[in-house]
Amino acid sequence: MDYLWSPWRYRYVAAGVKDERCIFCAAADARDDSQSLIVLRSRKTFVILNRYPYTSGHLMVVPYAHQATLAASELETLAEMMALAQRIEQALETLYHPDGYNLGMNIGRAAGAGIAGHLHLHVLPRWIGDTNFMTTVGETRVQPEELTTTYQRLRAALGT
Ligand SMILES: [Zn+2]
Repeated sequence: MDYLWSPWRYRYVAAGVKDERCIFCAAADARDDSQSLIVLRSRKTFVILNRYPYTSGHLMVVPYAHQATLAASELETLAEMMALAQRIEQALETLYHPDGYNLGMNIGRAAGAGIAGHLHLHVLPRWIGDTNFMTTVGETRVQPEELTTTYQRLRAALGT
């Protein structure tokens, strides 16, 4: 599991050091959702495509509030995160017909969070055999689809 979350985290850490702005807050504030890869905006949270996906369709559900923990988050926000995860599951099912899904939060840097200060829920489709392939090729990830294509398809599937 630790391995699963590691490929993109170093790039996020590197990016964070460079401009020192929380990437989730920066994305939420930016005007161009297609540039930020925000697929959907809801009341308390938004859905953003992972720029360094583990698999095609790797999304994150992120609260607008910059909070690091579940305890610091409003119950309404957490409920909306799960409701969006439900919609994402359905969209991914339609688009990619995966064999399964990973949903996960890494809370704190010791747990593997790339952006430790801002809570986020990873949702990604999985296929039988994708981990076997991954362990063989090290940190090279499977990216059979261009991000811009994934973005357009997910926006359509989520009805935004
Ligand atoms: Zn933030």
